[in-house]
Amino acid sequence: MKKGKRMVKCIKMYFYPAAVFILALCAAIPPAFGAGLPQTAHHSGGDKAAAVLLAEPAAPNGGRSSRVQSAENSAKRSRVAIIIDDLGNGMKGTDEMFALPVKFTVAVMPFLPTSVKDATRAHELGLDVLVHLPMEPRQGKPEWLGPGAVLTRMSDAEVRKSVEAALDNVPFAIGINNHMGSKVTGDERVMGIVLAVCKERGLFFVDSHTNYRSVAGRMAQEIGLPPVENHIFLDDVHTSAHVVKQMRLVQEKALNQNYCVTIGHVGIHGKETAAGIRSGIAVLKDSVEFVGISELVKDQWKWNSRVTLP
Ligand SMILES: [Zn+2]
Repeated sequence: MKKGKRMVKCIKMYFYPAAVFILALCAAIPPAFGAGLPQTAHHSGGDKAAAVLLAEPAAPNGGRSSRVQSAENSAKRSRVAIIIDDLGNGMKGTDEMFALPVKFTVAVMPFLPTSVKDATRAHELGLDVLVHLPMEPRQGKPEWLGPGAVLTRMSDAEVRKSVEAALDNVPFAIGINNHMGSKVTGDERVMGIVLAVCKERGLFFVDSHTNYRSVAGRMAQEIGLPPVENHIFLDDVHTSAHVVKQMRLVQEKALNQNYCVTIGHVGIHGKETAAGIRSGIAVLKDSVEFVGISELVKDQWKWNSRVTLP
């Protein structure tokens, strides 16, 4: 009992004054924090404004339904579609890419030794397949193009024949993207034929964006195809550290505009690129969702392909 009494006395002596002191301190603090309050309010206001801004430009056709659609999209996680170009020739990094732990898209060049094998392997793994169609560049060596290339000097009939032959050569393709092609993607006549074939077959075209004056996106929209384009090349510098850096840009872009399309390559530096992408995925996986290009096209542009796979 005596011990208990001493304890109560002790509490009264030390705890009460301490509690009073803490309460007084709390009362005194808000004005001090108050200086920071407008900043906090401004910040959350800024976020709201950013959300509104995001919803507006993301609307592809304007109008109420697009805004509703954008609002729905912004409620979802931001999406990243990685496309791996230049498959079909047994290039370095092919196995490493196929071992990546997320869904992505492979772009397979036609008429090459592993074209059919790579497209089939991708399809069996549940990945999306594009035909990586060689297209004439403004500069560069013709031999970099590979077989079956589309050239601006071709007649309308020849362009059509090339596109159709490439599509027939790569199984499971749901669309086309351009290998090189800085000259062709700026050519309205040739792009008109490429896009017309896409439309006839229920496919879409992804502009790799090798030409900033590309007409592909605008022309695609004009005939009712989704204006899909690459935003960021991952491996313009050939180290895995650079690829990881680019993946962070991808994350930023995806969080800002709800989605991001990005391209990497198999090839001489394919293993470095694959390693960089793998590290990047580990960094990004909690903030974005990795999807195939088909999911992005379907959700972002509400475009449904009627493609019939062989
Ligand atoms: Zn390519």
